[in-house]
Amino acid sequence: MLKRYFIPVIVVLLALAVAVYFLAGHSSTIRDVRAAVPVEHFRLSNGLNVVVMPNDRIPLVTHMLIVKAGAADDPYGKSGLAHYLEHLMFSGTKNFPEGMYERAIGRVGGAQNAYTTRDYTLYFSTVAKEHLPAVMTMEADRLMNREFEPAAVARELKVITEERNMRVDNNPASQWMEQLDALTFLNHPYGQPTIGWAEDMASFTAADAQDFFTRHYRASNMILLVAGDVTARDVRRMAQRYYGALSAGDTLARDWPKEPPARMARRGEMRDARVNEPRLLRQYVAPSAVAGTTAQAMPLAVFAQYLGGGDASVLYTALVREQKLATSVRVTYDALSIGPALLRIHANPATGVSLEQLEAALDRELSRILAGPLDTHAMARAKTMLVAEATFAQDGLQGLASVMAEIYANGLDEQYFYEWARLANAVTEDAALSAARAVMVPKASVTGYLLPEQKPAAAPTTAPAAPAPATMTEAPNAL
Ligand SMILES: [Zn+2]
Repeated sequence: MLKRYFIPVIVVLLALAVAVYFLAGHSSTIRDVRAAVPVEHFRLSNGLNVVVMPNDRIPLVTHMLIVKAGAADDPYGKSGLAHYLEHLMFSGTKNFPEGMYERAIGRVGGAQNAYTTRDYTLYFSTVAKEHLPAVMTMEADRLMNREFEPAAVARELKVITEERNMRVDNNPASQWMEQLDALTFLNHPYGQPTIGWAEDMASFTAADAQDFFTRHYRASNMILLVAGDVTARDVRRMAQRYYGALSAGDTLARDWPKEPPARMARRGEMRDARVNEPRLLRQYVAPSAVAGTTAQAMPLAVFAQYLGGGDASVLYTALVREQKLATSVRVTYDALSIGPALLRIHANPATGVSLEQLEAALDRELSRILAGPLDTHAMARAKTMLVAEATFAQDGLQGLASVMAEIYANGLDEQYFYEWARLANAVTEDAALSAARAVMVPKASVTGYLLPEQKPAAAPTTAPAAPAPATMTEAPNAL
């Protein structure tokens, strides 16, 4: 069973989901999007927030249970606990022993899985509509009859330890990103890896799992989202029947430690024998659609696209095409984040180009671009791309449901979805530029180098010394 622990591309999914409707011949009015993606929502008396996205074009339903607890809610010293809980939810109950849920869904041709992000944990199943009650029965059962038996707890600890080895420790680029994120967030829990530090994971006990579950897996801390061939009336009736008995729990505030202003540029270099291609990463903490100066979120999304969203973007054009210093440049920014977002610039140097040279060129280009004005045509193209890009990756019912789940998990609602394309198109050059200038400040920058292990110096010989290879003259510069 695949278990992911992050969504790297939710903003792309959102663009795609919106694009599906615009490219399908609909004009871009909010009313049309509203009609194409109707959403109803209500709350049960125990506080369970229910979102219904009726869509009778296919006889399927996607059932999503969103727990408003993610890696940022991991207690200090217990990083990875939210993800561990995600695994333990599959460890079976007295009524439905381990594996039964997955087999039951598989037998009827459905799909199910779960993932943990920094902000929330999501469990989903997609089945033919007549199987929705069965999904709800099993979902309610594992919420109400959860036990943390020592054997299951120990077994799953091995599984997540192996998952960390596979995803992070066997992958120097992942280790490098993990170190850079830890360097980036001075105080906010987003500096902790979602999968957890191995040292913390080793300390997990059944009591840790039980405490986290009791605190967070409560009706008032969850969102049920059902999309597909159902009516809000049906869902209300079924939700009441299956989830009405869940205990409400306390209302939890997401009062995470706040990120202070950065006052000093930070940088780090990692060398590893397994690295084949050097990489440069530059990142800045930025406002999101929910945290900080939220009015800058959409301008930043447009600016990130303008800067490095694809082969026609201005940074790609300058560094890859014209100056031939890089083989790739990509800028990412995801506005859907309960805490601060990150604006990231990834680049790979061309052969024979050092990371120092590439970084210097990047800084020159950023200074030039941020001095303004922006290229009007490139801005228009960036907006079009942002809204309409890549309809090939449209993910149907489940993709759209995931987007809405992410929006709701962030404490927003369908208005965000309905207005998204209009607001993206309304971003002015001035707004994009001033948001970018506010975020891309040198003293707030974090810069990472990923390099192959430096080759050991040649063993001394009696032969005349060959000139040292060029790479040997570059002093490692880790700070
Ligand atoms: Zn996992």
